[in-house]
Amino acid sequence: MYNVNSSKAEEFISHEEVLKTLDYAEKNKNNIELINKILEKAKLRKGLNHREASVLLACELEDKNKEIFELAKQIKHEVYGNRIVLFAPLYLSNYCVNGCVYCPYHYQNKHIPRKKLTQEEIIKEVTALEDMGHRRIAIELGEDPVNNPIDYVLESIKTIYSVKHKNGAIRRVNVNIAATTVENYKKLHEADIGTYILFQETYHKESYERLHPKGPKHNYAYHTEAMDRAIEGGIKDVSIGVLFGLELYKYEFAALLMHSEHLEAKFGFGPHAISVPRIRKADDIDPNTFDNGIDDNTFLKIAACIRVANPFAGMIISTRETKECRTRLLDLGISQISGGSKTSVGGYAEKEKEDSSQFDISDTRSLDEIVGWLIENGHIPSFCTSCYRSGRVGADFMKYTKAEQIHNFCTPNALMTLDEYLEDYASQRTKLLGQKLIKREVAKMQPSAIKDALAKNLELITSGSRDLRF
Ligand code: SF4
Ligand code: SF4
Repeated sequence: MYNVNSSKAEEFISHEEVLKTLDYAEKNKNNIELINKILEKAKLRKGLNHREASVLLACELEDKNKEIFELAKQIKHEVYGNRIVLFAPLYLSNYCVNGCVYCPYHYQNKHIPRKKLTQEEIIKEVTALEDMGHRRIAIELGEDPVNNPIDYVLESIKTIYSVKHKNGAIRRVNVNIAATTVENYKKLHEADIGTYILFQETYHKESYERLHPKGPKHNYAYHTEAMDRAIEGGIKDVSIGVLFGLELYKYEFAALLMHSEHLEAKFGFGPHAISVPRIRKADDIDPNTFDNGIDDNTFLKIAACIRVANPFAGMIISTRETKECRTRLLDLGISQISGGSKTSVGGYAEKEKEDSSQFDISDTRSLDEIVGWLIENGHIPSFCTSCYRSGRVGADFMKYTKAEQIHNFCTPNALMTLDEYLEDYASQRTKLLGQKLIKREVAKMQPSAIKDALAKNLELITSGSRDLRF
């Protein structure tokens, strides 16, 4: 029985409700009257429920699909402006006791070398990331109670925050570890993490159990209810996502929105961000063995429909996607991308070995190239980490976002952190492009106290001050 408020995975992601939603969407996919009504609702920026959004996803009418894409662009522009936040993953350990069939770190894979970074090696990795200009990272570890216990994770977070190399510092550590207990989430919260990230992979219980044949991750309910425990443990920013390609995308889409609705109903705030990874080739993994792969156009439609249905959750894509696909996705609502990423353990400080990556990267450009490319495409690359450091998290963060006041913080913070990046890390070419962009963006701002303060801060950055924020 479907119950959005239930604490049980099989009730808030009711299989029956997903199937009814798919049926409803299929029957109404060309129902112009209903689609117009849904689009009118979406224009109010109040979001859509999973049934309404599924009708848009299923829609086959060309002119209505154009409207959906246009609306996604408008919402992206109004809520996020032209800012794109940058981050990098940091792989700490590829030891894992799980048997996920789509991931090369599964315990049966004997081809890849297993590695867990020592604290000294973490310092080297973080130094390399700081030398690139990164400020925000997401740590990634396999699940292994012996090799990667919670104490190792906590010690590593402490080490990461402690590395201050030249003008560099990692100011926000997001954490992607396996589903765990409320007690461990409390510890992560106390360690000052930014967002807790956990991808569902697939919401389809039967497929989930088949794709996760061994290890603690096999337990669908424990995994699906993890975000509830994380929030109970005090973490306010959580990030959800599915791995598109494992199951039918329409099923995943409806269930993903049901998960978001559940968090909103139970805790008063939805996910801070939604990730949309697609399955990629990797050692021991051939994506062609999964027959639910989606093409670029379907992927773009999914991104547009998520943006329209959930205007206030950030949306994240990784370097799994090609430059071409990322360029198109940015306009449709993506607010965060990774740049200059290495997906192997120890990949930043040492040359990455191909056989130890978690997945193949499609966008292999350096961070400097990504920053330059974003600027040339009219975006403001942002290294901002201000909100969680200023206590704007969870429901409080959503309050600002929904009132569309987050702009007041985001643009000045984006410009200041970009300016820091240009001063300390950029190539000459990127620096020139960035400085022109900053001038243009400041000129566009209406006169205000914040504009005056921003102008002063930009001068201070030129003369050596760092970490200024609103
Ligand atoms: Fe382990 Fe995560 Fe890979 Fe599964 S997806 S095998 S849990 S590292
Ligand atoms: Fe993100 Fe807050 Fe910075 Fe805006 S001000 S970019 S919402 S951290």
